[in-house]
Amino acid sequence: DAFVSLSDLTLSYGQTVAVPDLDLDIAEGELIALLGPSGCGKTTTMRAIAGLLTPTSGKIVIDGRDVTRTPANQRGIGLVFQSYALFPHLSAFENVAFGLRLKKLPEREIRAKTEAGLDTVGLAGFEKRKPAELSGGQQQRLALARSLVMEPKVLLLDEPLSNLDARLRLEMRTELQRVQKDTGVTMVFVTHDQSEALALADRIVLMKDGRIEQLGTPDELYARP
Ligand code: ADP
Ligand code: ADP
Repeated sequence: DAFVSLSDLTLSYGQTVAVPDLDLDIAEGELIALLGPSGCGKTTTMRAIAGLLTPTSGKIVIDGRDVTRTPANQRGIGLVFQSYALFPHLSAFENVAFGLRLKKLPEREIRAKTEAGLDTVGLAGFEKRKPAELSGGQQQRLALARSLVMEPKVLLLDEPLSNLDARLRLEMRTELQRVQKDTGVTMVFVTHDQSEALALADRIVLMKDGRIEQLGTPDELYARP
């Protein structure tokens, strides 16, 4: 059954329809890539799943709950932005602990979850570093850890690897896949890079002009005869 379900979804900016009538079902634990050229509606679709953009019509259901009818703090959506949006003045530990502190968890639990989160992304031992004292790939992992510790139902990643150089991008592909398999979290990521979608995703949603042009596993979409 679908864990995330987009049905008859239309997304607009004023009079401009960016995404007309989209249908998409995502299973729990899937790693989905939204692939397509700039302007095809990837970010708009992500924003809607995150509840940041109210659909003009249609509906988004996550784990049985209509997103627009669910309070923001109960949606269970994690976001990892292109820019990472880390707090520059806070240590790696405090960056990850930040959201847990807002939840007012006991300090002991915050420590345990934060350490586990840093460990999951291979950053154990880097607790005291500020973001500027970490490499691009490490900053990327830190942003990932910060979202993961909140135990989201769905993790949305907007061009997660685009700021990394070619070597790190390859390394982080493997890393992202490993983290997804280890945690079992449902992930949807946006990319305009076909090789990235092919390497990472369980299924690829190929978008064009706000519509799904093709949908399937990497093999189904790009199998060579
Ligand atoms: P992305 O790199 O995610 O495709 P863009 O660079 O296209 O994003 O857009 C950056 C910002 O500009 C976004 O906040 C987006 O909502 C906004 N934007 C994009 N296209 C338009 C548009 N036609 N009119 C107004 N704002 C736009
Ligand atoms: P992508 O993420 O695939 O680059 P977007 O979802 O950002 O595409 O954009 C889809 C369409 O919606 C584009 O035509 C873009 O110009 C338009 N758009 C995006 N953001 C805005 C905005 N804030 N206002 C008006 N139009 C927008």
